[in-house]
Amino acid sequence: MSENPIVTVYKVISISSAHELCLPYESKCNQIHGHNWKIETWLTGKLNESKMVVDFTIIKREVMKLDHTNINSYVEPSTAENIAVYLAQKLYQLEPTNLVKVKVRVWETETSYAEYEYVPSSQE
Ligand SMILES: [Zn+2]
Repeated sequence: MSENPIVTVYKVISISSAHELCLPYESKCNQIHGHNWKIETWLTGKLNESKMVVDFTIIKREVMKLDHTNINSYVEPSTAENIAVYLAQKLYQLEPTNLVKVKVRVWETETSYAEYEYVPSSQE
């Protein structure tokens, strides 16, 4: 058995939140509105002392900070793409010494998602 295996954990979390965009063209998204967002997360890293990559409840707690909020209070602009970047970086900060990459997929509707994979450079 590997002394220091690299493992991926996955968690999916549903949140209901508002957002509004400021697009330079006519769009209904420029008015504040809500979505039932599905947030999928993949955290890859070395195991900690508890033999976990990161506790699933900690992942959920971090994502749930956006539940029942106006996401614009956290991320500007609040596009699905930018929310994915924001969450990947927030999740990486949970265990920065263990994690080697974090992927987040933000489903804005049942047919549309944005995905971002954060891989910190070795210079950091
Ligand atoms: Zn929207």
